[in-house]
Amino acid sequence: MRISNEDMLRETDLPFDKAPPYRIKAVEYSIPTTREKRKEIMQEYGYSGRLLPAKYVFINMVTDSGTGALSDRQWSAMMEGDESYFNCRSYEIFEETCQAFTKMPYIIPSHQGRSAEAPIYEIFVKPGDKVPSNTHFTTTSTWAFQRGAEPVDLICPDYLDEENYSWFKGNMNLEKFEDYFIEYAEKIPLVELVVPNNLNGGQAVSMENIKNVRAIIDKYNKIDTQLYLDIARISENAWIIKSHEPGYKDKSCLGIVNEMLSYADGCHMSAKKGGLVNMGGFIALRNKIFWQRMHPKVIRTDGFITYGGLAGRDLESLAVGLIEGVNDYYLQDRQRQVDYFANACQKRGIHILEPASCFAVYINAGKCLPHLDHTQGPATCLSAQAYIEGGFASTAMDSLQRGRIDANNPQDSSKRIKAPYELIRCAIPRRTYYEPHYDWAAECLFRAIEWGDKLPAFKPIVDDRPPLELSEIGLHTFFDDYEPVSPLP
Ligand SMILES: *Cc1c(COP(=O)(O)O)cnc(C)c1O
Repeated sequence: MRISNEDMLRETDLPFDKAPPYRIKAVEYSIPTTREKRKEIMQEYGYSGRLLPAKYVFINMVTDSGTGALSDRQWSAMMEGDESYFNCRSYEIFEETCQAFTKMPYIIPSHQGRSAEAPIYEIFVKPGDKVPSNTHFTTTSTWAFQRGAEPVDLICPDYLDEENYSWFKGNMNLEKFEDYFIEYAEKIPLVELVVPNNLNGGQAVSMENIKNVRAIIDKYNKIDTQLYLDIARISENAWIIKSHEPGYKDKSCLGIVNEMLSYADGCHMSAKKGGLVNMGGFIALRNKIFWQRMHPKVIRTDGFITYGGLAGRDLESLAVGLIEGVNDYYLQDRQRQVDYFANACQKRGIHILEPASCFAVYINAGKCLPHLDHTQGPATCLSAQAYIEGGFASTAMDSLQRGRIDANNPQDSSKRIKAPYELIRCAIPRRTYYEPHYDWAAECLFRAIEWGDKLPAFKPIVDDRPPLELSEIGLHTFFDDYEPVSPLP
């Protein structure tokens, strides 16, 4: 018999604020390397965490997407996966769990976040529309472009203020949102709130902000505008609300997630993040007609509406992982791990974006390497050098990696959208690393920074790839490549 969800939340005096509430059953190896070898690898594979063969990465913080460890409960549930094509038994437990998590009646499984976004954009968004957000994830902005609409990011001023250390810098800019909504109400079929705000330093969104976005929509709504939450890491955002927003200290994280979603018409989740699965996602919504309108879109690309591109065992794994991922003891420990790594960096004088988020630590590479300006890829450089120092991989998110303003002249790196900060995202895989790993990762960054102005600028590489269409422009970061102007030390 598996330990039940209720058992996992029993009252305790065990030190879950200091040690994980689980122990380890399977471990994973990578191929050991030397500094010499890592330098070779970096050069061969284009100086980017995204291009490195994972087998040569010692500590991998390129992404937290699908990279966590499964539990014994998930593995045992997977053996019970029902692989019938139509209406498999595994769908029932999946549906029930998603309903309990979202308190929404209508569920559609999907194989990951972006395939859940597809039918939503297809039924709600048309050419000429506008889709405001606190900052779209890459794929939702691309879906908006794909539909001939405009994704609009309304970043809150707290995030843009480097000295502001408040807890909810991922919020929608309410003032701008209200003005924008009043002006374009007839052209806004959909509003997206990303919780937490992945592309803006992973910063959390407050309950109050969600409530106020809802209130503004209700007040000025002209065309039944839908509020959807992009909830890849909603459970981790709930932990920040529980810890820092007045009135939530004694609530369970599941209760907080339920309340966050109570203000939305629907949501879509990449469960590869907070859902603790390697692959999977879902849509949940309140309106039956919209749900039915989504069905043919799902069948066209992903398969029948009770599996949405997932195997029966994936549905089982997700049903278990979603609830493990919102367990308060687990979330307390997860935040402790993120904070531990943030501290390990700060102890070494490495500039991080504060506060550390609930799933990643963002290194302020612009401040760490002040001799490189935003056209010279300070984060691209620091991330590459940190790998050479000690096999630590991360994701550069600096201006160099952003959209080209001039599509015809991709080599001109001054013609790029300037990012608010030149960041490296160190995304922390779930249930995966120990404290010494975090210390070593910080050490790699520290040793890289110590090279100071010996670290070279980066520039885009001329390649013969066909230029991206405007509708795909949000994806350019996966296709542009860079190289240093002189060798890395
Ligand atoms: C990862 C992510 C997505 C897309 O999910 P995939 O599973 O990668 O397709 C959407 N929104 C947010 C906020 C994400 O982090």
